[in-house]
Formats: sequence, C-alpha cells, structure tokens
Amino acid sequence: MEGELKELLTDLKTLKSSLPDRSYQALIDKMQSRLEHLSTIATSGPVQRLKIKDMSAEVVDSNPYSRLMALQRMGIVDNYERIREFSVAIVGIGGVGSVAAEMLTRCGIGRLLLYDYDTVELANMNRLFFRPEQAGMTKTDAAVQTLSDINPDVVLESYTLNITTVQGFETFMSSLRNKSFCPSKEGCGVDLVLSCVDNYEARMVVNQACNELNQTWMESGVSENAVSGHIQLLVPGETACFACAPPLVVASGIDERTLKREGVCAASLPTTMGVVAGLLVQNTLKYLLKFGHVTPYLGYNALKDYFPTMEMKPNPQCSNSACLERQKEYALVKPARDAATKAKMESEAPSETECLHEDNEWNISVVDDTDLQGPDVGKSSGSLPEGLIHELPSADEFQKPPVSEESADPVDDLEDLKRQLEALNSD
Ligand SMILES: [Zn+2]
Repeated sequence: MEGELKELLTDLKTLKSSLPDRSYQALIDKMQSRLEHLSTIATSGPVQRLKIKDMSAEVVDSNPYSRLMALQRMGIVDNYERIREFSVAIVGIGGVGSVAAEMLTRCGIGRLLLYDYDTVELANMNRLFFRPEQAGMTKTDAAVQTLSDINPDVVLESYTLNITTVQGFETFMSSLRNKSFCPSKEGCGVDLVLSCVDNYEARMVVNQACNELNQTWMESGVSENAVSGHIQLLVPGETACFACAPPLVVASGIDERTLKREGVCAASLPTTMGVVAGLLVQNTLKYLLKFGHVTPYLGYNALKDYFPTMEMKPNPQCSNSACLERQKEYALVKPARDAATKAKMESEAPSETECLHEDNEWNISVVDDTDLQGPDVGKSSGSLPEGLIHELPSADEFQKPPVSEESADPVDDLEDLKRQLEALNSD
C-alpha cells in the first residue's frame, strides 16, 4: 500500500506540472496533501515491542511484567519468573482455547504449542480474540499473528492439523515429546496440555496421548446451550482419565457427528467461554507456579451461579490400557509419596511451644475467653469499665408489664373505638 501511495503522489505531481489550466491547481494541492497524510499513516504502522531478556520487577510504565512480578512481592508466588521455563500445549484454538492462549501469552509463558485445523469465520465474532479481518485465515496463523504482537517473548509453535487423523496424531505426539526448548526437563517436552476442543472424539485422542506419555493435562468444556461449563485436572494413574468415566455417547459407541441436526448449531456466549478460559488458566498458573489449591474439577452453572467441585478416582476397569498401566505405576509409588507428604506436613506444622511472632510492637496478647462466655456475661456490672452501665436488661431480669383489664377484652376496645368515631362524626 505504501508503494502505491508513493506512485499516486508522483503521478499527481506530474499532472500538476503538465496541466496548462491553472484553475485545477487548488484541487490538485488538496489531493496531494491528503495523499501525503495517508502515506504517513501507512509508514508509521503498529510498533512492536522488542524482546525482553529478563523479567524485571521494576515499577515503570514501560515494563510489561511489573504487575506480574508484584505477585512475588505480595507473597502469592515464590518465583514468578519461572513461568518462562514452562511449555503449554493448547489443543483447539476456539472460544476457550484462543482466550486461554492470550491469557498465558500476557502472563509471559515460555512456550505455547497451538493445535487446530479450522479457519476463522465471521460466525466466530460473538466470541473473544479473533478479529473480522482474520476471517479465512487458519486459527493457528491468526493466533500467532495476534499473540506475537502482544508478547514477542513467548515462543509460539503452531500446528495446523487434525489430531484425530493418524498423521495428525503422530505429529501431535512427536511435538509433545520434543524437548529442544528445555532439554533438561524430565518426561516429555511440555509441562501441561490444555484440551479446549468441542467434541468427545478429540478429547479421547488427547486422553490417549497423555496416558501414553504420562502427561498431566486439563480438560475444559462449555455446554451446547452456552450456560454451563467445567474444567478438570487429569493426572494419569492418579485421577480418573477421560475414558474412566466416559460420557454416555462415548460409552455407547455412538458417532457424535450423527447427533448433529442439519441447520442447528450450538449456542455460544463470550461470557461463559471467557469464564471457563479464566478458570482454566487460573488453575494452570496455580499448577505451574505452585500456589494455592489446584482444583481437580470445577463446574460452572451460569443460570444459578453455582460452582460444583468434586474429585474422581481412576476406574480399575477403565477401557484405556495406557490408563491401567499408569494406575499400576501410581499404586507402586503412592505409599512413598504419602509418607513424604505426611513428613512434610509434620515438619511445617508449628510446635506448641514455638513462638510465631517474636516482635509484637502493638503488645497484642491472646487471652483465654472462656470466662467471658460464662453464664454471668451481661449480668455483672462489675465487668464493665468504670462509669458504664448496661442499658438493656438481661433476659432473666426482663419482666412483662402487668396486663390491664381493659386491654384484656378486645370487645370493650372495639366498643370504645366505635363510640369515639361516632363522637367525631357528630361534630
Ligand atoms: Zn482411565
């Protein structure tokens, strides 16, 4: 565009000098200044920020990480900068996956692997992240375009493939195994897999891959009517896998594509998808940076604002053979792991004689309050500071006022009221 504008400007200047009729000069000058203005806009373009080598906690407007590093100063996380060492794979860059990818990018995650085979459509514009001018692009390309602008520090890998095909599954597996980003890492090459797909078949494929690789993953989903969703943590062998308690459609062997009706599409709301993506990335940050409680399952019912939680143990009769293998391995390491957890809890628990707060500049002391809650509370005026008395009688001292005979008979009351009314009306 920049080149075309320059050519137009040159043509206009030639026209101006070659035109014998001077009456057009003012119009040409006006067109020239408008073209020069457009050229300035075209050349300025968006300015991308440079990569930042080390995350800094320095509080300056130009530091994109100051607010995140503040989590460390506030005592929420021990070492925020560790986020740069982690790789997260996101399968499905739709309404939930794209928002999760943006959140992790803004948080400065080390590396993101993005998987999708779909293209951006105008029908996706009711959701967050993608823009109308990206319609027609693959979701992976459009995501890389936006995310690299937001944070060039994040290493982005995009895979435009369908993981449910044989070829796609092989590429998916080898990309998860690839350890070039962090060669010293144990296990496979990613720290967490996030499933943000919209069908059971793809979930079963992610489940298969993660069970085979012994890879922890998180599942997410939003209902077809757009008003409920969930997130779930899946640790192979330790928690239920997706096949341990499969949805009825999967367990019955029904092809879910046959359930779709012509001309009927699922509903979606940017709000529900944003909430589910937020819950998913919150759990991801807690899992990676080791703070707070990592939830095993969290549901979201938008109509009632209800958030159910639960835990699911693996099924010893699971149909997935890799899951059964992981269950056996976990049963072997569990006793040692439980003993280590118990020892850690005991060492961290404060002993009875331990002084928790040595310096106490306000001279606050803990007193035994059992006497204060005794039967005499509120009765004894001696417990009040000098000069203060109890305003209200205690329950035991309160006496009902004597009942007068007049008010005891409602009929007399009515007769009296009637007489008063008659007297008023007669005036
Ligand atoms: Zn299982």
